[in-house]
Amino acid sequence: MKDKVIEEIESRIEALQKDIEELKEIESPEEKLATDLHTVMCKTNHSDGCSWFYEDSCEKYAHKRYLDMAKKILSTGISPKKSIEIAEIINNG
Ligand SMILES: [Zn+2]
Repeated sequence: MKDKVIEEIESRIEALQKDIEELKEIESPEEKLATDLHTVMCKTNHSDGCSWFYEDSCEKYAHKRYLDMAKKILSTGISPKKSIEIAEIINNG
């Protein structure tokens, strides 16, 4: 009886841990836009010019820089899609 209860609790813990991992992987709108802006705008070398792919958090330099830009853009009311279109125009212009 006791073993069965423990087994059920462990199974629920496992399911909750899976939910936590899935939630951690979901980007906020700001983080998503920051990633898209970096993809469109960054022209620097990723072996020594930009640390984007070497960073493990949004608080690190390159991610923070694009995250700050994304927050400012979103605060103007421009949609993420429009802001990427504008970034592409500026970048290719
Ligand atoms: Zn970069």
